[in-house]
Amino acid sequence: MDVRWFTVTVAAGAIVFAAVAFARCRSDDRSGEPPVERIIRVARVIALDDTVDEQADSIAVAHGRIVAVGPWERVAIHAGADTEIVDLRPGIAVPGLVDAHAHLVGQGRISVNLVGTTSVEQIVERVAAEVAQRPAGAWILGRGWDQNDWANTALPDRALLDRIAPDHPVVLTRIDGHAVWANTRALERAGIDRSTTDPDGGRIERRADGEPTGVLVDNAMMAMFATVPAATRTEIREAILAAAAECHRLGLTGIHDAGVTADELAVYRELYRTGELKLRSYAMIGGEGALLDRYVASGPEIGACDGRLTIRCLKLYADGALGSRGAALDAPYADAPSTSGLLTTPPERLDAIVRRAVGAGLQVAVHAIGDRANRLVLDAYEGALRDIGPDDPRLRVEHAQILHVGDIDRLARLRVIASMQPTHLTSDGPWAEARLGPDRMSGAYAWRRILRGGGRIAAGSDFPVERVDPLRGLYAAITRRRTDEPHAGAVYSPDQRMTPEEALRAFTIEAAYAAFQEDRGGSLSPGKWADVTVLPIDPIRDDPERLRTAAVVATIVAGEVVYRKAP
Ligand SMILES: [Zn+2]
Repeated sequence: MDVRWFTVTVAAGAIVFAAVAFARCRSDDRSGEPPVERIIRVARVIALDDTVDEQADSIAVAHGRIVAVGPWERVAIHAGADTEIVDLRPGIAVPGLVDAHAHLVGQGRISVNLVGTTSVEQIVERVAAEVAQRPAGAWILGRGWDQNDWANTALPDRALLDRIAPDHPVVLTRIDGHAVWANTRALERAGIDRSTTDPDGGRIERRADGEPTGVLVDNAMMAMFATVPAATRTEIREAILAAAAECHRLGLTGIHDAGVTADELAVYRELYRTGELKLRSYAMIGGEGALLDRYVASGPEIGACDGRLTIRCLKLYADGALGSRGAALDAPYADAPSTSGLLTTPPERLDAIVRRAVGAGLQVAVHAIGDRANRLVLDAYEGALRDIGPDDPRLRVEHAQILHVGDIDRLARLRVIASMQPTHLTSDGPWAEARLGPDRMSGAYAWRRILRGGGRIAAGSDFPVERVDPLRGLYAAITRRRTDEPHAGAVYSPDQRMTPEEALRAFTIEAAYAAFQEDRGGSLSPGKWADVTVLPIDPIRDDPERLRTAAVVATIVAGEVVYRKAP
């Protein structure tokens, strides 16, 4: 729809506007000019829509959609006796922030959050509190420790956990997701003992006598994660609700869930039906299997659950991650010349699945970190586009971390969306060049080159791999600087920074575009979803350093305030 036309109409007469704006989106006809349900007042609206008045400070909302955006005097005419005025001044409204690559259940299933802990004692205390609430034998899963933040920076030992959890298997994932710290019960369940050899790409940390310490690095974690039982429906439900609450607190109105199961989808639907879940989800089908078969047969499911749930994308993996040297590179690792990573899906298989999904009208999103994996994904996409050729495929590469410089132009030519995570750069920054060597860095985390080449970037966090906080993502995108000790201050290839507006767009309108939702979300335009994030700062004009400490004022989904900071 033409937003420019709407702005004119709003000025000319709200009756015509209401009739036209809602005819397309709603089945029930409205006659006359009913007052809006709610007007959100802020200090300023950053609409990301050129047709919206620059002086806008108010957003009128009805039936989950934006009815009008503009200066208070012009928006207030939509108010009636029952209209609620939500005064969030001096907050600044931006389009609802969307994480274009996240794992909702993975985030919410963390029962013990260790982010920000500064000592082993603190961690043990938190785990003990959780153990006290769980029956013996129940798994205790935590995440977020970092030994660099402790007085003694040596890796920890399972004995510390055994003391407080002799009967519960405990698995605590390191902040970067590349190591776990497990207790003895957990090692037993996974069948890991002193006779277990280190797997390829993994390391079992050992005491001087050869006994495992409980710390498992990279691929050595696989045996442990294969043992942790799959979540029950109840656990999925709790995980989704917990993670969604955290998303709202940090300003997210929607996510792209990068790979869900049939069970997770069933829980999503139930939570939307009961009204307990407000967060929008663009849920990707997690790999091959019965769920994919179902959507290949039925085609995409768009705007289910009152527009909050869409299933039209298949998520696949081409390779591993850079930290564990699993990312598939064309030439060996600079710091491990015997390996060049691994492909998790063979190229011919990838080709066949991509064709099957594209042929069924589905979007495809493939995890590709290394330059070899990225090239193979683009090869598969190019072949499918040539032979099947949908008009508007919007195929996605998830992460697109290390590209051959020549593939950057190809990305744009094939109209492939780069779904990237700014905080992956700042987390990997301290060691990425050691892995890749200087030459490959020019195509690594190359946001500016991708944008200059005509490519599109949708941004996310990949939480729980990184923190949920999208303001950290904006900060990383704008500064390419870490926010945390011990590496604070390092700036990685500053010439590849995004401008503040590009960064904000990547978390809003570009995320919407990557989900075929730019006509419904991504900007604060009349007729679109009333999804709004209210910040205490201006993310475009203010010093980006303020993003590090800014706390979200309010989060609004479909016109409903789902989070509001206590005064
Ligand atoms: Zn992911």
